[in-house]
Amino acid sequence: MARTDGLCERCDARGLTVFATVVDHIKPLALGGTDEDSNTRNLCDPCHAEATAEQFGMRTARGIGRDGRPTSPDHPWNRPDRT
Ligand SMILES: [Zn+2]
Repeated sequence: MARTDGLCERCDARGLTVFATVVDHIKPLALGGTDEDSNTRNLCDPCHAEATAEQFGMRTARGIGRDGRPTSPDHPWNRPDRT
């Protein structure tokens, strides 16, 4: 958080000065992201909601459902013989 003086990085990129309220994972932990600085960014609430929608929206388009699991029946996770 100190890295950006506690400001929202997304708003900053738009020339706005807004205090960040959350540390967002660029690649979500649920999808294998790390907790390192290189994978985090400071965001305000509205930006965090936006970014999360983008992240999971894109995943949905690429065949991964809202729960983070693949939607394709051909994916190994969805095969009936998986024990
Ligand atoms: Zn923001």
